[in-house]
Amino acid sequence: MLCHNLHKIVLPIDALLCRSLSCHDPSHINHLNTFVSNISNACLSAGAAILPYTGRGSDRGRMPGLTEHVAPVRDKAESGRPRNGVVADIMRKTRAEYHYAIRRIRRDSDNIVNERFAEALLHNNGRDFWAEAKKIRRNKVSVSSIVDGVCTDDDIADVFASNYQHLYTSVAYDVTDMNCIISSIDDSLSGHKMQSTVTCEEISVAINKLKAAKNDGDIGLSSDYFKQSCNDLAVYISRLFTALLVHGTAPSEFATSTVIRIPKGKGLNPTDSANYRGIALSSIYGKLFDLIVLHKFSDQLCTSPLQFGFKAKRSTSMCTMVLKEVIAYYSKHGSLYCIML
Ligand SMILES: [Zn+2]
Repeated sequence: MLCHNLHKIVLPIDALLCRSLSCHDPSHINHLNTFVSNISNACLSAGAAILPYTGRGSDRGRMPGLTEHVAPVRDKAESGRPRNGVVADIMRKTRAEYHYAIRRIRRDSDNIVNERFAEALLHNNGRDFWAEAKKIRRNKVSVSSIVDGVCTDDDIADVFASNYQHLYTSVAYDVTDMNCIISSIDDSLSGHKMQSTVTCEEISVAINKLKAAKNDGDIGLSSDYFKQSCNDLAVYISRLFTALLVHGTAPSEFATSTVIRIPKGKGLNPTDSANYRGIALSSIYGKLFDLIVLHKFSDQLCTSPLQFGFKAKRSTSMCTMVLKEVIAYYSKHGSLYCIML
C-alpha cells in the first residue's frame, strides 16, 4: 500500500540530483518541501488503511484484575436473559457473583497489582515486570480542564504558550555577540565541503532506532509509520535528506514541535500552570535527521563531561546518586552545608 502511494509521487528530479553546494535555486527548495509533504501524505493514507487504531486513554476506568477475576462471571451472567424459571434464578445468582467480583477487585486493586509484581519477579519474567511498572506509572494524575482561571482548550494553550515564551526569552543576550557567532558559523560552513550523501542503509538503521508509537503531535505521523514501512520509504527519505544537506535547508515540518503538558505529580494543584511541565512532541523526520547527524558526525561532536542527560550510556540518575552519596557521607561524618545554584 505504502509502496503504491510512494510510486505515485512525482519526483523532483532536478532538486534530488542537484549536487551544487552553492545552489540557491528557490524552485529546488520549494520542490523539496513539496516532496516531504507528498511522502507524509503517502504514509498517512497508507497508515489509515493498514495500521490498527486504539482510542486515546482506552485503558481509562480499567481496573487491575478485570480480565482474570471478573470477565468469566460476567460472561456467565450475560449469556441470555430469561425473566423466570431455573435459568432466571441462575442468572440472578451469576449477576450477584459478577457484582461481588467487581467489588472485590475494587477493594483489592492494590493487592492485585502487588501480586502481579511479585509473580513477575518470581518467574524472572522481565517483560511482564516492566509492563506492570508501566501500568502503575501511567495515567495516575490527570490534567485539569481549568488552568490559571481559563477553561477552553485554546485559552489554556495560550496560557502555556505565554509561560514558555517568557521562560525561553528570560535570559538576555547581546545582539552583536550573537551576530558574530552566526557569521562565524556561516564562514566556517562556506569553506567546508562536507560529505553529504545519506544512504538507504543509514536511514534504515535510524528508523530501527526510533522508539515505537511516538507521535509527532502535528500532522499525525507516528514513528510506527516508518518502522512498519517498506524499504522504498528508506530510499525516498535517503534521497530527500541528501538533497536537503546539499541545499542546506530543512522544511518547516522538520522543526515543528508540539509542547504538551504533563502534571508534575500527585498532590499538586492541577489548576495551576506552574504544576505542569512541558514535553515536546517532535517531527519524526527531525528525529531521523538527528540520528543521521549523530551517526555521521558523533566523533566530531564533544560535550561536557558534566553533562549526563541525552548521552549514550549516561543517565541523570548517575549524578543524582553521586549527590545523594556525597550528602550522606558528609551527614554521617560531620556537618553539612549545601548551596544550590
Ligand atoms: Zn539545487
